[in-house]
Amino acid sequence: MWMWIAIVAVAAALALVKVYDRKVPGSLYKGVLLIWAVGPLVGTIWAMVLLWRDWIAPIDLALFLVLYFLTGMGITGGFHRLITHSSFETNPVVRGAFLILGCMAAQGRPIDWASNHLKHHAHADQEGDPHSPVEGLFHSHMGWFFSGEPADRERYGSKLTRDPLTAFIDKTTVLWLVLGLVIPYLIAGWSGFLWGGLVRIAFLNHATFAVNSICHAFGARPFDTKDESRNNWIVALLTFGEGWHNNHHAFPAMAYHGMSWRQFDATALTIRFLVWLKLAKNVKLPRPELVQRRLADPSAAPSVAAATSPGRSAD
Ligand SMILES: [Zn+2]
Ligand SMILES: [Zn+2]
Repeated sequence: MWMWIAIVAVAAALALVKVYDRKVPGSLYKGVLLIWAVGPLVGTIWAMVLLWRDWIAPIDLALFLVLYFLTGMGITGGFHRLITHSSFETNPVVRGAFLILGCMAAQGRPIDWASNHLKHHAHADQEGDPHSPVEGLFHSHMGWFFSGEPADRERYGSKLTRDPLTAFIDKTTVLWLVLGLVIPYLIAGWSGFLWGGLVRIAFLNHATFAVNSICHAFGARPFDTKDESRNNWIVALLTFGEGWHNNHHAFPAMAYHGMSWRQFDATALTIRFLVWLKLAKNVKLPRPELVQRRLADPSAAPSVAAATSPGRSAD
């Protein structure tokens, strides 16, 4: 019990420093970032050692998979497509659920996340991009957390700061992050904490970071964008569709990043499901003629344009 209280206290202290990152000394902030970056990896190594001795328990595997999906959807559907790009609209309950799940992923506060990402789109692979592989693959993957300044929330996230629900969840990120560790512990004890908490965070974070690194370095470029963005199917599978990153840079507000049936996009399927349930509306998609025009090789048009259907413009 005391061990558990100590771990929650340490997690809360680390998360508090992260929340008040602009008010604490830089060295303390970077120390916390280091623990945040290394902690889940140490947990993963420990899980692999245990795996060598004994096969993973079904409940731990289930916790890992379910929480990976839910918190991953919080990032891709919530932090990215819902609040950063306003690719679709939903009601406050679904918006709140998306954002809380995103906070559990331990990728920082939603408004910081959105601000950094909007800055990336504004300067992709140019001066001012927080995480371009032009400055090195490791820098784009996670080095940028330590070397760069966080994006200006006022400049890039002011619209979100004015939304009371988003602002509330942003302020209480710590609570949700800790809850994301407590839930698997309550369900399956320490092994649940390890697999549904630390290992899940490590896998999802590095899959998400790969969108910034791998998807600006390796993969296809069907659209002739001004940046180095790429479509990478392996990253797309691990990140529920975010790996169709060249499509995304071509049409940033587009809700469905996979643009044909061959480009599997689990986040798009989730948004479609919400639309079917009448819980999402005003889904933004680009006009097919614009998609055709922007293709680097127009002969590839049919498979890409076929998936787009008229909706609110994402041009
Ligand atoms: Zn990008
Ligand atoms: Zn984006």
